[in-house]
Amino acid sequence: MCIRDRPSACYVIRMETPDQPLQLDGRALATRIRDDYAPRVAALRESGRRPRLVALRVGEDAATKAYLRGQQRGAEKWGIEYDIQTLPASTNERGIRKAIRALNADPEVTGIMLALPLPAGIGARALQREIDPHKDVEGVHPENLGGCLYGRYGLLPCTALAVMALLESSGIELQGKQAVVVGHSEIVGKPVALLLLAQDATTTVCHKFTGNLAEHTRTADVLVVAVGKAGLITADMVKPGAYVVDVGINAVTGDDGKHKIVGDTDYDGVAPVCAAITPVPGGVGPVTVAILMRNTVLATEGMPPLDDPGQLPLFTA
Ligand code: NAP
Repeated sequence: MCIRDRPSACYVIRMETPDQPLQLDGRALATRIRDDYAPRVAALRESGRRPRLVALRVGEDAATKAYLRGQQRGAEKWGIEYDIQTLPASTNERGIRKAIRALNADPEVTGIMLALPLPAGIGARALQREIDPHKDVEGVHPENLGGCLYGRYGLLPCTALAVMALLESSGIELQGKQAVVVGHSEIVGKPVALLLLAQDATTTVCHKFTGNLAEHTRTADVLVVAVGKAGLITADMVKPGAYVVDVGINAVTGDDGKHKIVGDTDYDGVAPVCAAITPVPGGVGPVTVAILMRNTVLATEGMPPLDDPGQLPLFTA
């Protein structure tokens, strides 16, 4: 699809010159998702089934604290109750399991998220499996992760669904496109790859051991990068006219000596080459928070795991 043909529902900022790419505005899309779901939140509250999300964290990691505060602000805007439950850093796996079971059993809690990282030596997988899949609003329980295989948009990993929402908002038709996902984590890269496959994109997944990364990325009509390495993707690695979704979050020191957050792509170099691109910050991040809240709404409504709330379009135009 030509950029100029895009439907009016695209959540984009047109940059100053017409030859510049479309910037996929995550903040605007997040607001749109919230507006879409607002009547459902109101209906739940009126019926007495209040959405309530509890974030369980272990220890006092500063970055986690800041991350959860961002979610808390998001929840406030949605009218969703959000509590942070902090366990001492010395809590062992049994103790965390006990806390998760208590949240599973609490009828007032409709969504649970287990904040990572966990203290050294405690694996996340077994604990994620302990979360009631009906309350697993991060989509990390195997029962919900399985939804990616079916291409269903239930309680799926929030960032993966955010990537799909941003692509949908760009107006690109994924069927038959060459998609390349860089990074194959269980929570981002792999779920995104499965969801792109489910939309009939021909999908390649690259990772640390991929021999010639650029050889693959240059074929991509849709390039999703989720690694956590600033500057990994440069302009020469991007096919002209590609749609680029940058999931990475990296704290770097700018030329002015100030700390700033950047993605995995060299934005200034890549933007002029591609058709559309997500900024960092302001791209995938805000949409991920919106999806977490959307998942909490679905969980509160009692949607069974693997139920299918609808294929694309994911959100109303
Ligand atoms: P992760 O678990 O560390 O996974 C990173 C992936 O990148 C791994 O599959 C790794 O491969 C691969 N990789 C490492 N070096 C590579 C290289 N040189 N070339 C190609 N692939 C390489 O991280 P994640 O949780 O998926 O997150 C990825 C990034 O997205 C991070 O910056 C994170 O902060 C960010 N993130 C953002 C959001 C958001 O809301 N915006 C949400 C989640 C994550 P191996 O497994 O083989 O090592």
